[in-house]
Amino acid sequence: MYDSFLIKYGEIGIKGNNRHVFEDALVKRIREALASVDGDYTITKERGRIYVNAAGDWHFDEAVEALRHVFGIVGICPVMVMPAGTFDALRAGVLDFIGRVYPDSTASFKIKARRINKAFEKKSMEIDAELGDAILRTYPKMHVDVHEPDILVDIEIRENIYIYSETIPGPGGMPVGTGGSAMLLLSGGIDSPVAGYMIAKRGVTIDAVYFHAPPYTSERAKQKVIDLAREVARFTGPIRLHIVNFTDIQLAIYDNCPHEELTIIMRRYMMRIAEHFALEKNCLGLVTGESIGQVASQTMQSLVTTNAVCTLPVYRPLIGFDKNDIVAIAKEIGTYETSILPFEDCCTIFVAKHPVTKPMLKTIEHSEMHLKDVIDDLMKTALETTEVITVR
Ligand code: ATP
Ligand code: MG
Repeated sequence: MYDSFLIKYGEIGIKGNNRHVFEDALVKRIREALASVDGDYTITKERGRIYVNAAGDWHFDEAVEALRHVFGIVGICPVMVMPAGTFDALRAGVLDFIGRVYPDSTASFKIKARRINKAFEKKSMEIDAELGDAILRTYPKMHVDVHEPDILVDIEIRENIYIYSETIPGPGGMPVGTGGSAMLLLSGGIDSPVAGYMIAKRGVTIDAVYFHAPPYTSERAKQKVIDLAREVARFTGPIRLHIVNFTDIQLAIYDNCPHEELTIIMRRYMMRIAEHFALEKNCLGLVTGESIGQVASQTMQSLVTTNAVCTLPVYRPLIGFDKNDIVAIAKEIGTYETSILPFEDCCTIFVAKHPVTKPMLKTIEHSEMHLKDVIDDLMKTALETTEVITVR
């Protein structure tokens, strides 16, 4: 039925000189998103509009599903395209459109034409009136309702004519690539994939770091994080995932520091390492899935101590969210099912029975002094042995 889509995008942030940056980033992301689905797609840009043309062996639902993962898109309109020729040809085209999309319909309708191409022979209002008449004569079971029509037929007359009546909602947000990049601390939990999704939705490119602790955490736990990264990458495009072997640092903390402070000290080393890779990759911030009070390491006092080791801003988009709200987003974006798989993560193995909930920065810094003979070498090894894979 259709072989084209008109892509509608929001007007936010695309004023003036930024407009082409925004549009180019959107086109790039659309191309990436469609690369993994069957069919040949051509993406074209015309003033204020992006069109996707499908050819070959393609499936409507798959193409729409891919487009629904592209931030910056607010609406996906399946569209019938015809050359801007005579009015008679347009009338024949619209009658054909109605007959095919709404066979035997008894619905009310309204025509809304926009003549952007002033060379076209009739004005918008004349087009509305004459096409309305033609539809009523050809499909007498239908009727006009200009206030609340069941079917609103948009007709845009440009170099070509575009006829459409349906808008499938897109995810909104800004195209990834328009907002700098950030390093996401991605664990196997529910929260961090959602945090990455939310920051990416503002146009930010996402890289990620995962702290792996073999043999305490299994290959399956690592695979789970790779799978989560792949799910987030459906929205963000390729993610460079840094897999840090964190075991020796965790063991050193375990052997040398007070056990009730293990989690906080461990989190501080995670932040230091994440920041190292963030700076190396020119990221402008770190992203975590923390939310105030969710666990001992996420009280306001704990956040002060973790934050103290970072020089880059740490973005915590879930900071004021209840778990239920986070779960709802995780389900909506498709990460939840993977997140709840049972594999252990490195934090759950080394947690103390009674972790501090109100750590004092000075105390924690003092405890870290116990690591001073070993930590430099351990950090160096952790950084050098980090595996980087691109997940798409
Ligand atoms: P999540 O559900 O994302 O695992 P959480 O509720 O389990 O979060 P914590 O384990 O306290 O919370 O971790 C807080 C944040 O620290 C996570 O959201 C994530 O950003 C980061 N983090 C925790 N563990 C790891 C890890 N093994 N690798 C990378 N980041 C981690
Ligand atoms: Mg976790």
